[in-house]
Amino acid sequence: MSKQIRILVTGAGGFIGHHLVNRLKNDGHWVRGVDVKAPDYEPSRADEFEILDLRKYDGCLQATRGQIDHVYNLAADMGGIGYISASRAEIAKNNILINAHMLEAARLNGIARFLFSSSACVYAGYKQQDPDISPLREEDAYPADPEPGYGWEKLFSEELCRYYQSDHRFDTRIVRFHNVYGPLGTYEGGKEKAPAAISRKVALARDGDEIEIWGDGKQTRSFMYVDDCVEGLIRLMASRCYEPLNLGTSTLITIDGLVDLVTAIAGKHLVKRHDLAKPQGVRGRNSDNSRLLHVLGWEPSISLEVGLDVTYRWIESELKRTHNLPLEYSSHAAD
Ligand code: NAD
Repeated sequence: MSKQIRILVTGAGGFIGHHLVNRLKNDGHWVRGVDVKAPDYEPSRADEFEILDLRKYDGCLQATRGQIDHVYNLAADMGGIGYISASRAEIAKNNILINAHMLEAARLNGIARFLFSSSACVYAGYKQQDPDISPLREEDAYPADPEPGYGWEKLFSEELCRYYQSDHRFDTRIVRFHNVYGPLGTYEGGKEKAPAAISRKVALARDGDEIEIWGDGKQTRSFMYVDDCVEGLIRLMASRCYEPLNLGTSTLITIDGLVDLVTAIAGKHLVKRHDLAKPQGVRGRNSDNSRLLHVLGWEPSISLEVGLDVTYRWIESELKRTHNLPLEYSSHAAD
C-alpha cells in the first residue's frame, strides 16, 4: 500500500468518480466523495460522501475543508454527443462555475495537488474532419476550435489551471480523457455515450432485428476501459506533469465496427439502420500517446474486446433486472 493520504473526489456519484473511489479505497486512502447525487448502481465506499452543489462557492469550500491533500475534480454536467449538442449554454455555465469555484476553494483550503478532468472535445474541429485521422497530440488543441459549449469550457478551465499554476504556484494536473466506457456507467436516459447506448440497443434487440445507429457509422473513435482510466489518473496525479495529457487508447475503430463487436459479443445478427439526422460529432478522433508514454512510462492496454464484453454483460444484466427483459432476448440466457 502507498502512504495513506486524504483525497477528495468530486463527481463521486458519477461513472469515473465511483470507480476511482473504489480504487483509492483499495489502495488504503481516506476518501471524501462529493456529488449532487449518490452513485446510481451501488453505494459509494468513500469514508464520507456529501451531497453538495459545486456550482456554488460555499459548496466547494465545504468540499475542500479539513486537510485534504489531493483533489480529483471530476464533477461536470456532461453526456454523450446528443446531450452536449442540445444544451450548450447550460453545460458551459454549470461547468465553468464548478471549475472556477473548485480551483479557488481548493487553493484557499491549502490543497497540495488538484487534478482537472478535461476532454478530447478540446481538440480543434478542423483537425478531425477525416475518419482516417492522425492521432491528436496535445498541441493540436490550438489554434482553438473546440466542441461548442462543452469543449470551449474544458479548454478555458485548462487555461485557468495554468494561471493558478503560474500566478499562485498552485499545483495542478490536467487530463484529457478519450471516450471512457465500462460497467456502472449510464446506459439510458439521454446522457449515455456510444458504447453504452449501442450495448443497450443490442441487448434489447431480438436476433434479426434492426437497430438505429447515429450517423453513417463511418465516424471513428478510440475507447478506453475504465480500469485503465483510473490507473492513468493515479499515475498522472503522482507525476510532475502539469501540462495537459491525453489519456486514451490509440486504437481507432469505426462506430459500425463497434456495433459489430457488440453484436458478436451478444451472439446476435442485427441490421444497422443509419440515421444521418442524429448528431455524430467530429468525423474522426484518436489519441496520440507519445507524451503519455514519455511522462508516465505507461499507456492503457485493456483491449476493446475484453472491456466491451464486461460492459455488455453488465448492461444486459441491468436491463434484465430493471426492464424485466425475457431471457430469450439474451444469447447468454444460460450464463
Ligand atoms: P458522469 O456524468 O458519470 O459524472 C459526473 C458527475 O458530476 C455526475 O455524477 C454528476 O452528478 C456530477 N455533477 C454534475 N454537476 C454537479 C454539481 N453542480 N455539483 C456536484 N456534482 C455535480 O461523467 P464521467 O464519465 O464520470 O466523467 C467524469 C469527468 O470526466 C467529467 O469532468 C467529464 O467531463 C470528463 N470526461 C469524461 C469522458 C468519458 O468518456 N466518460 C470523456 C471526456 C471527459
